[in-house]
Amino acid sequence: MNLPKRMLVANVAWAQEIARRDPHFFSALAAGQKPQVLWIGCSDSRVPAESVTHCAPGDLFVHRNIANLFHPDDDNTMSVLEYAVRVLRVAHIIVCGHYGCGGVRASLLPPADALPHVNRRIEPLCALVRAHRAALECLPSEEARVNRVAELSVIEQVRLLREHPLVRESAPAPLVHGWIFSLGDGQLRELASGYDPQTAVAVAAA
Ligand SMILES: [Zn+2]
Repeated sequence: MNLPKRMLVANVAWAQEIARRDPHFFSALAAGQKPQVLWIGCSDSRVPAESVTHCAPGDLFVHRNIANLFHPDDDNTMSVLEYAVRVLRVAHIIVCGHYGCGGVRASLLPPADALPHVNRRIEPLCALVRAHRAALECLPSEEARVNRVAELSVIEQVRLLREHPLVRESAPAPLVHGWIFSLGDGQLRELASGYDPQTAVAVAAA
């Protein structure tokens, strides 16, 4: 059986299992969505939002892109944010980065000729690397630099989101949080809490 076929078969088993455990699950799902969280994460296959947080269909409104970047001038990103804030009225926005991120690693390397779109997307990361070059050069390894930039980038996306009029001027404004996922042990770490906005500053200065 080929892979897409295996996925379709698995879907049938999944739907049957969910319906067996909760006969009303899919009728409730079909009735509409009321997620409380907008998740902005990396496209990386190893960081599936629902799986790592034990969330179910209907819990998360999700936007994923290379290196979990918030681009205020990108219609894809902005349409998701606009709908999440103005229609779904999410209470929380979570930016979730991860250690070992390939998009972040690319920002520390010369641009790849075969990846013009990626190069353009990660330009804000490259700017972040330039701004922190001295501190990054003091780190002992490329891995450490990649992971530090991943942390700094989450903080930066949180800052951009908090400052954006769509977020700032909505009432009540959703709380913006910054998390990072560790591939090595599957755990999430909070870098910035929407309940205590000063924590992000402390992490950025560390
Ligand atoms: Zn990534």
